[in-house]
Amino acid sequence: MNGDKIIEAKNVSKWYGSFQVLTNINLTVRKGERIVVCGPSGSGKSTLIRCFNRLEAHQEGEIVVNGIALHEKMRNVSEVRRNVGMVFQHFNLFPHMTVLMNCMVGPMWINGVSQTEARERALKFLERVRIPEQANKYPIQLSGGQQQRVAIARSLCMQPAVMLFDEPTSALDPEMVSEVLETMTALAKDGMTMVCVTHEMGFARAVADRVIFMNSGQIVEEATPDDFFTKPQHQRTKLFLSQIL
Ligand code: ADP
Ligand code: MG
Repeated sequence: MNGDKIIEAKNVSKWYGSFQVLTNINLTVRKGERIVVCGPSGSGKSTLIRCFNRLEAHQEGEIVVNGIALHEKMRNVSEVRRNVGMVFQHFNLFPHMTVLMNCMVGPMWINGVSQTEARERALKFLERVRIPEQANKYPIQLSGGQQQRVAIARSLCMQPAVMLFDEPTSALDPEMVSEVLETMTALAKDGMTMVCVTHEMGFARAVADRVIFMNSGQIVEEATPDDFFTKPQHQRTKLFLSQIL
């Protein structure tokens, strides 16, 4: 079963200066798995997933993503980024480009895909997130929920092996949360490998194969959604659940 590991983190630790932000993280994400990561603010969730596409560097332990070992001397960071899609809290779309161009530039400039193919691909994924009619608008003309769906489509256009989501709905107005969660649920049903930092526990219950709970830079609990919500083991998890549910 070695070949189907998309992300493997072994004993990963990281410091910001003298502050240890991650401590001995062990996590394996297999092809097609959906992992939800939750935990209190400041527990290291963003830092962890940013290590998976080398937006951050870890100092101890091993991270292998889609067969590529991430370390200081690696030369193929861009190859890792091509394999790993990332969706942020604040959509990070290119404001001066149309929705369509936002989705086309990655494949064209980074993967060398032809303009014709990039356009076809962009339209296909805009269709998939159900906003093909917005293709020629600029990001600012779209609602937050629509912009986040464009950000998801833009990532999908790179045909990544795994998608990382960092609290994709937490900057949205409440009425726009469900459209983004529905898009993510549809992706999960299509078999996309996903690591989602989110506090949307309904989504976690419906979609996750495993829920990871982090506290102070450590994974303190890892369980199926059923076990996680009905019989959390750790005191810190119980407290967290009592605060958010
Ligand atoms: P979470 O996503 O769970 O809220 P983060 O990974 O963003 O947590 O942050 C974990 C801890 O690391 C926090 O205490 C935060 O203040 C600190 N931190 C995050 N980024 C940096 C940075 N670039 N430099 C120093 N400290 C940071
Ligand atoms: Mg965060």
